[in-house]
Amino acid sequence: MRYSNLFGKTLREAPREEVSVNAQLLIKAGFIDKLMAGSFTLLPLGYRVKEKIEQIVREEMDATGANELLMPLLHPKEVWNETGRWETAKEVMYQFEKNKKEYALSFTHEEIVLDLIRKKVSGYKDLPVKIYHFSTKFRDEPRAKSGILRGREFLMKDLYSAHTSSEDLDKYYWQVADAYLRIYEKMNLKARIVEASGGVFTDSHTHEFQVLSDQGEDMIFYCEKCDFSQNKEVATVKVGDKCPKCGGVVKESRSIEVGNIFKFGTVYSEKMNVMFTDKDGTRKFPYFASYGIGITRLIGTLVELFHDDKGIVWPKAVAPYNVHLISIQDNEKGDKLYEELLAEGIEVLYDDREIGPGQKFNDADLVGIPVRLVVSPKTGDKIEYKERTSDKTELLSLEEVLKRLK
Ligand code: ATP
Ligand code: MG
Repeated sequence: MRYSNLFGKTLREAPREEVSVNAQLLIKAGFIDKLMAGSFTLLPLGYRVKEKIEQIVREEMDATGANELLMPLLHPKEVWNETGRWETAKEVMYQFEKNKKEYALSFTHEEIVLDLIRKKVSGYKDLPVKIYHFSTKFRDEPRAKSGILRGREFLMKDLYSAHTSSEDLDKYYWQVADAYLRIYEKMNLKARIVEASGGVFTDSHTHEFQVLSDQGEDMIFYCEKCDFSQNKEVATVKVGDKCPKCGGVVKESRSIEVGNIFKFGTVYSEKMNVMFTDKDGTRKFPYFASYGIGITRLIGTLVELFHDDKGIVWPKAVAPYNVHLISIQDNEKGDKLYEELLAEGIEVLYDDREIGPGQKFNDADLVGIPVRLVVSPKTGDKIEYKERTSDKTELLSLEEVLKRLK
């Protein structure tokens, strides 16, 4: 992509009303635009980061045997009445009336999935069901001020599974938990599995995936030595206690919830009268679970964790491009290298603008692509190579550059 042709360039200043680092940097660097509180456009750069994150999630979900589909966002009131959530989730749901019919905008999809299962599953051979989608969720969030971490409209990957037994559900539940940990690891995030309460979703415990960060809205107790972690809302320990798992010391930290998984048992199946015929011919309720990852919240989380005073520092796996190419007073050289890199399958953001080098360098730091390449009359037949995380510049041949990028 030629920067001159990119829609959504860097801004001189971040908007003053933005208090969160993620919103300041993402807006200033040209990744997002704010329509209103809690409602953002993913500009082309932000969209590419979203695509990278989704692809990591998709590969891990598919590896668990799950099927990707796409469910609607406009829901009839009737389906929400079946579980009583039209009333109990009223505060978060956007509900409205049109031509004497009542609707809700999707804030989650359990009811929609169970309605599907009711139509598509008749016997034990149709189970387990494992289906997921990437889609928008709408929630009337009272405190939409953490930038892209909390939207009134945001992207989620939600997976749902239904099983013939609670043992089968349990096995899959922890398989998905492992997949989640791998997903976060691939983007350099260290997530902890945290015991938490179910909120409006379930009375039993759920498991959240939390990334330690001062910018988080959650507070967790955790052990530094082992993986013991509890959300403060349900904690049975306090700071300084002995870790009940390994005897270490319990600490406290703010954290960002980047995922949440829920085991519902047969509660929802019973409410919606979803049944299957088991091997012995009896009619039973399937065991049901759901699993969410906040895709747009992850973009914000990455920026909160990976930035410095110059801008964003994207982990390689999710960076919008592999390299940020800058030409100084020699676009012919720049154009040639741009084509050569593209031919090698490298994703390049090429700053071909007719402006001074200072601004190009500043913008490259702000945008945060992992590798910066510079060609100028001074670089001769070599290319200046610099990683975003280092101050060291090196003059390399194209061959050497390609080797580093593979
Ligand atoms: P929170 O406690 O932060 O409000 P939640 O527990 O209500 O989140 P879930 O229903 O578990 O959220 O949704 C799954 C994931 O979607 C969350 O773990 C989070 O990463 C993301 N998410 C939830 N609400 C929002 C939001 N308003 N904006 C952006 N991402 C969100
Ligand atoms: Mg949650």
